[in-house]
Amino acid sequence: MSQNRVVEGRMVDAKGLAELVEEGSVMEAESISDADRDCPECGGNVLSVGYMPSVTEFVTGYKCQDCPWSADDRE
Ligand SMILES: [Zn+2]
Repeated sequence: MSQNRVVEGRMVDAKGLAELVEEGSVMEAESISDADRDCPECGGNVLSVGYMPSVTEFVTGYKCQDCPWSADDRE
């Protein structure tokens, strides 16, 4: 079963998607799912992925499939 999704025209897996949100490397990522929201920039579909940027941190990241917009749930 492939977890790959097309983001900004290229195929990424969960870890690749997390690294786009984080703009750097991550330790681990869960599977990609569709977030129940639209991109605030372009109205495109938003994907979500849970990941661990470090051993002590778990973050849910959001990334538009069509434009560079991304966000996470850090406070
Ligand atoms: Zn967008």
